[in-house]
Amino acid sequence: MRMVFIGPPGAGKGTQAARLIEKYRLAHLSTGDMLRAARDAKTEVGKKADEYMSTGQLVPDEIIIDIIRQRLAEPDCQGGYLLDGFPRTIAQAEALDRMLAETGTPLDVVLELRVPEDELFNRLAGRGRADDTPQVIRQRLVAYRQQTEPLLAYYTGKGLLESVDGLGAVEEIFDRVTTVLDPLAR
Ligand code: ADP
Repeated sequence: MRMVFIGPPGAGKGTQAARLIEKYRLAHLSTGDMLRAARDAKTEVGKKADEYMSTGQLVPDEIIIDIIRQRLAEPDCQGGYLLDGFPRTIAQAEALDRMLAETGTPLDVVLELRVPEDELFNRLAGRGRADDTPQVIRQRLVAYRQQTEPLLAYYTGKGLLESVDGLGAVEEIFDRVTTVLDPLAR
């Protein structure tokens, strides 16, 4: 199964993703994790990305598209993957479509985890990551609304979008998500 997991910061994608990759045996491609690893390793890409991450802005499309292109070519992705945090802009989604068209491996589903914005702010403020200060959180929510939310219409248009309510207990949400994914798993 090739899936995109989409949702605002704080929606609980990471928690659900960890369970989903286990259940469906998928490679977990989290661009946030990749960028934090690059930043901590102080690579050129990592240093550049940190300029954006530390203020809650999206890193430039070219950087992230290159990372994903290389990652998708690796052997563990051939059996299916969960994209977590990518694409985050229409340009990224279009680049992904082109890559997947080249290899004849289209997406199976785009799953949206839906959580109201006031709940997100409270969750993020309680988390304590370096980019979880109130001002940076606000900027990340704005980036989501302005740059990422348009993807919902984009993928609806392609008939790929499925939305799941992200409020409730972790187990409950997992049940909702797997109810949608089970018929698509192979
Ligand atoms: P969040 O908890 O906000 O969902 P992530 O852990 O996915 O965040 O990503 C953290 C930061 O990394 C983002 O705020 C952004 O600066 C950068 N980032 C991650 N993925 C992307 C992407 N696909 N495009 C641009 N920037 C990204």
